[in-house]
Amino acid sequence: MKFGGSSVANKQQIAKVTEIVRAARDASARVVVVCSAHKGITNALIETARAAQAGELTPRRVLDRQAEIATSLGCAPSLLKPFFAEIRDLLRGINLVKELSPRSLDYISSFGERMSVRCIADFFLRAGVRARAFDIWDLGFITDECFGNARPLAGYEDAMRDAFATQVPEGTIPVVTGFVGKTRAGEITTVGRNGSDLTATLIGAALRAREVQIWTDTDGVMTADPSVVEGARNIPTMHFDEAAELAYFGSRMLHPSTLLPAIANNIPVRVLNTNRPEHRGTVIQDRVDPSGNVVTSIAYKERQTVLTINSVRMFGQSGYLARLYEVLGRHGVVVDMIATSEVSISLTTNTREALERALPTLRKFGRCEVEEGKTILVVVGHGLYDARGMGARILGAMSTAGVNVEMVSFAARSINFSMLIDDRDIGRAVPVLHHELFS
Ligand code: ASP
Ligand code: MG
Repeated sequence: MKFGGSSVANKQQIAKVTEIVRAARDASARVVVVCSAHKGITNALIETARAAQAGELTPRRVLDRQAEIATSLGCAPSLLKPFFAEIRDLLRGINLVKELSPRSLDYISSFGERMSVRCIADFFLRAGVRARAFDIWDLGFITDECFGNARPLAGYEDAMRDAFATQVPEGTIPVVTGFVGKTRAGEITTVGRNGSDLTATLIGAALRAREVQIWTDTDGVMTADPSVVEGARNIPTMHFDEAAELAYFGSRMLHPSTLLPAIANNIPVRVLNTNRPEHRGTVIQDRVDPSGNVVTSIAYKERQTVLTINSVRMFGQSGYLARLYEVLGRHGVVVDMIATSEVSISLTTNTREALERALPTLRKFGRCEVEEGKTILVVVGHGLYDARGMGARILGAMSTAGVNVEMVSFAARSINFSMLIDDRDIGRAVPVLHHELFS
């Protein structure tokens, strides 16, 4: 059970979490709790570190905030004292050397989770839920040295299983830090911002969990962003592929790599609402619900750049695309959508700087035009590829909305129909499309 920053934001939320965990325990589930930092603490730590680097030493900005939460939870000041001392030392160090390396950034960022699990486990205990806080590295989670994007070393699963078996007393619920890790040499790492979900699926994979629950502040995954579409509604079940497409194309719900460990081990991931635990949420699994909607959801990714290369020399010529991709690859240009004709290629990317570096070489392939401010709008659903007339309905909705579609991509057996539109048209396109597909 993973609880995100908003689920553990304050006493009111942590009290809800306590009841959710208690209910699971009473239903005789063997629970592992994974927690994020309290909402805003990771950002505050990073901002304070940047300020220290820039010459301004203000540890209280973050310490006061953490202390206030701990106090409201009824934790003794001694619980966090060593952490506060270490944070002060570290910030002083950063301030002295005026340097903030990726390594130091991970070190400072790690305190949010390390402190939150202590406060939460302490609160659980006093509420009658037997629990103990753990830093995940004491449970076998040893990572590579990729600071800011670390991953556990191969074989970590066995180490974790052993550690859980030997370190966690029978009948005690472990409350484990999300987000962080440690290298073999003992240096603290993180798996990346918003990475606690990934920590949860990695633990789930290691322990061969029956399921991974991601507790958040919406009723599972929605058919569209509820802040843009009034009628957005819950999706009861999704296939792994659909969720992966959604994560990649802008759903703020799941980080793209979160699902990988679950997919590899076929572990269902359930997204649930801490504020409404009775809601069924969304289950993401290796199964398509035959009674479900043809279309699962709508997502979009803004601020994309489109490159069009025009050339009459281009096609029918073998190896043209291979040479083009070699250049893109060499400069680190990540391509999302692509459409080709006899005389032109259009492709989208969000790695604008990499594209700038590649442009001089790309001009050898033909006349290059670059346009910014585009959105990839995707309709995702397992039923898409054999539902007659879906394309017409989707494009018809865009026409009704008065939105120009500049590119379309839909592959054989695809579960994703992608369109490129202008950033400015998002607010008009999504509600009309949602109405067409879900009403
Ligand atoms: N606390 C970390 C962050 O804010 C990780 C997480 O919340 O998932 O990025
Ligand atoms: Mg989060």
